[in-house]
Amino acid sequence: MGLETYRKMRDFRRTPEPKGTVSKSNRRRFVVQEHHASKLHFDFRLEVGGVLKSWSVPRGPSLDPSEKRLAVETEDHPVEYLKFEGLIPEGEYGAGEHMRWDGGTYEVLGEGTAAEQLEVGRLDFALDGEKLKGAFTLLKMKRREGEWLLFKRTDEFAEEGWELRLRKPVDGQETIRGKAKGRGQKAKGKIAEGGGHVRKFDPAAKGGKVVPVSRALQGKTLEGDLNVKVGREVVPLTHLERVYWSGEGYTKGDLVRYYYEVADYILPYLKDRPLIMKRYPSGIEGPFFHQHDVNEAPSFVRTVPLEVEDGGGHEVDYIVGDNLATLVYMANLGAIERHPWHSRVSDLEHPDWFVFDLDPGEGVAFETICDVAVTTREVLARIGLDSYPKTSGSRGIHVYVPVEPVYEYGQIAELAEQLATVVAREQSAAATVERSKRKRGARMIYVDHMQNARGKSVAAPYSVRPKPGATVSAPLEWKEVERGKVKTADFHIRNMLKRVERKGDLFEPVLKKRQRLEGVFERAREMFKEGSKKRAQRA
Ligand code: MN
Repeated sequence: MGLETYRKMRDFRRTPEPKGTVSKSNRRRFVVQEHHASKLHFDFRLEVGGVLKSWSVPRGPSLDPSEKRLAVETEDHPVEYLKFEGLIPEGEYGAGEHMRWDGGTYEVLGEGTAAEQLEVGRLDFALDGEKLKGAFTLLKMKRREGEWLLFKRTDEFAEEGWELRLRKPVDGQETIRGKAKGRGQKAKGKIAEGGGHVRKFDPAAKGGKVVPVSRALQGKTLEGDLNVKVGREVVPLTHLERVYWSGEGYTKGDLVRYYYEVADYILPYLKDRPLIMKRYPSGIEGPFFHQHDVNEAPSFVRTVPLEVEDGGGHEVDYIVGDNLATLVYMANLGAIERHPWHSRVSDLEHPDWFVFDLDPGEGVAFETICDVAVTTREVLARIGLDSYPKTSGSRGIHVYVPVEPVYEYGQIAELAEQLATVVAREQSAAATVERSKRKRGARMIYVDHMQNARGKSVAAPYSVRPKPGATVSAPLEWKEVERGKVKTADFHIRNMLKRVERKGDLFEPVLKKRQRLEGVFERAREMFKEGSKKRAQRA
């Protein structure tokens, strides 16, 4: 504990934030700050041990006990920060307007001091603020580094459907709403527990009525809980009426149905690959988390323990996307996105594709992204490689290059970096490989080649994205990209099946074509150096 990190991150000649000291007294104060940084968020701070223990809460606190809010641990702040309001200048850490939203004092509930409770990963406390009152809990998510949940406990101050009012509205938005109203459902964010071993259970053993999945999903409106038979397996489905996309009223049932319908097309891209699930247990506006590690799974779900690259060398049990029952099971977990590894469990060290993720800044026209994608294709063609485009389903385009799985992740990552640099050079007005968002400027397309390291991933073809409209990552024809007439919103859970039935799986070559890279590495390096030389001469 201390303020070293806090001070190291700031230049006090430039920022109005207090330098502060570790305080000797402890008055159990708290503050919630509304912070209009590059991303609006709330900072939740509790006075503990002479400093302010701090969490960044993207959606802010809530008085609704069913709203469990993600709270990401940040560095300790000095108690002087309780009163801080002001503008952190551009270029400084946390640049943007910072204002007090609520504050007061708190009391520890239960056994032990605040520090002791935080140490074990659960703090129960009662707030006495102007806005926030009553019992709250901060709960550390196991194995998610620094990620906690902050939520209201049920008492006389709890308020269902409570809305957070911003002090400074943004884009006409004055409140931060919770779950879709009038549904009365509870957000049940199930968190990965630690362990390292997976408890397998047999859902069929629980009994209850079982309906064949095809019949169950025919119903126009899906609601309640349901056991469906998928092949020989029983998959329990729950809360199918829960609204996941409030704008369109699409429910969890719609998500399950989509994955069931496109199973034949998406499964080949998930088969035999470790998967990262991006889970939204209460819909796209609620809290989400990336789940690598699973602790329990039905017996039909294959899991594989893998060592992960976090320096700690610990093992994580990944789900493997092998079968239809698993696909449906994941949808029921609220796993809107599926991110497969670039390599298979049977040969983990050798990716069989690599990816350029063309990620645009705010307001870049999709046509421009298409243009950069076409350049990417041309650069690849020059060294003899075929490539395949798809919408990311979010804002950009992914360009895939299938390869024979005999090259190491390191070799592939280096190749991708050189090629991305060439693309950015040839599209220097529109594209860049600059990693820092701030440095690259808002209107640029980031040619992201960093997703090609071991354990990294992008959303799979046909994966749904947690975006308005329930958009889907859709494989494209190059001629569609060349014309630049397509856009992300064209492809979503309501029309993807039709398109793929009409056009077939445009991504099939990504699985079938195994391009060798002998000669390619050299040609790429040449091209990369050539450009650098020319640049140097011009300069
Ligand atoms: Mn902040």
